[in-house]
Amino acid sequence: MSDTAAVAEAEALVAEATGDTDGAGEGPKFTLELNQDQKDIREWVHGFAEGVVRPAAEEWDEREETPWPVIQEAAKIGLYSFEALGQFWADETGLTLPIANEELFWGDAGIGMAIMGTSLAVAAIFGQGTPEQMGEWIPQCFGSADDPKVAAFCSSEPDAGSDVSAIRTTAKYDEATDEWIINGQKAWATNGGIADVHVVIATVDRELGSRGHAAFIVPPGTKGCEQGAKVKKHGLRASHTADVHLDDCRVPGACLLGGKEKLDERLARVREGKKAKSQAAMQTFEASRPTVGAQALGIARAAYEYSLDYAKERRQFGKAIIENQAIAFTLADMKLEIDAARLLVWRAAWMGRSGHKFENAEGSMSKLKAGEVAVWATERAIQILGGNGYTREFPVERMHRDAKIYTIFEGTSEIQRLVISRAISGVHIK
Ligand SMILES: Cc1cc2nc3c(=O)[nH]c(=O)nc-3n(C[C@H](O)[C@H](O)[C@H](O)COP(=O)(O)OP(=O)(O)OC[C@H]3O[C@@H](n4cnc5c(N)ncnc54)[C@H](O)[C@@H]3O)c2cc1C
Repeated sequence: MSDTAAVAEAEALVAEATGDTDGAGEGPKFTLELNQDQKDIREWVHGFAEGVVRPAAEEWDEREETPWPVIQEAAKIGLYSFEALGQFWADETGLTLPIANEELFWGDAGIGMAIMGTSLAVAAIFGQGTPEQMGEWIPQCFGSADDPKVAAFCSSEPDAGSDVSAIRTTAKYDEATDEWIINGQKAWATNGGIADVHVVIATVDRELGSRGHAAFIVPPGTKGCEQGAKVKKHGLRASHTADVHLDDCRVPGACLLGGKEKLDERLARVREGKKAKSQAAMQTFEASRPTVGAQALGIARAAYEYSLDYAKERRQFGKAIIENQAIAFTLADMKLEIDAARLLVWRAAWMGRSGHKFENAEGSMSKLKAGEVAVWATERAIQILGGNGYTREFPVERMHRDAKIYTIFEGTSEIQRLVISRAISGVHIK
């Protein structure tokens, strides 16, 4: 897809996301019958996951470093690119994005996140930026095939994780220079500090809570934007996570996503007591939940497949361990739960893309179920492998460590339950 075509596609999607369309519900019907394009993309991503990602998984997990050579390979074949993400997004059924994510994370979640971490920043630009901002910044998030770059989305702070409204990073407008001055500390940012483009959520009016937030592009090399401590993690160790310090960091006025006019209008509405249409960080999370669920599914499926093969091979008491119902039924339940989670993920992806409103927090449901299935299934996989499962000689312990993050980031399981319970009840559950 050319840059212009992708921007046109982006404009159409933004119109859809903001309700500026009358086509909701008239898009493609939900079907489990994949079309040829979807099958081809699945095969393509699976081939890369099997041939390049999985063989490198153990090494980069141990090194706890960004696997730049693998990102470069992905960029060379066009998988790590604006065009590929645009192509996945362009699928009107919404299914291609979760399909591609499931396959990549089936290869390895740490490397998968090193490749896909950029897409959270891209989603923010895509969801909140003007067409000009999309055209300018999204390609820079990826760099080029010869010189790939990554991007970071910085919302969380040491005292603002689940409670996004507690964000303390400020953005103040300097009229004299038409610049925004950003100050604060971001925590746990995927690609934080190693990114070329950082998307930073900051408050422009703290009294308004999350309704006073706005998203800013911090361009490559901006003075005052520095990496803080790199986080040592339980899992997803091939993906870089770090604090980001913003110290009198000046960005041009044009780096406010959506533009100042739109922000001023929104703030005026809120101050008048009217409802704001969007909240900067929440909007990004809501759109990305089914995709995140699909990543968890990839891990769960990898652990299920590995333990199924193992159970057929491993012999105890003179027979394969799968001949015991305890093992066979566990595998049956793993398959059942994974398929059930996939149905929720695909439903939410289809609803989101075809303009169906999430009446019952279906996006949250998909992420919640897939994340919890991934943690449970990978733990069961360790049990099926016994002592071997507990060692680093076998991949299921890594998969279990990787899976755990899916009940924590992009909204913890508790927060997803909060969102769902509020949606189904209309009651402001606390
Ligand atoms: C590997 C990794 C990558 C990350 N990447 C990013 C990134 O790229 N960008 C970014 O902005 N952030 C990122 N994060 C941050 C992540 O989104 C937060 O860790 C997450 O939102 C949870 O916030 P917290 O850690 O402050 O937990 P807390 O909010 O302190 O929650 C602690 C516990 O309390 C529970 N809890 C909190 N409030 C309630 C409530 N109202 N009801 C019931 N239970 C509640 C939570 O569910 C949780 O169990 C990342 C984190 C990690 C670990």
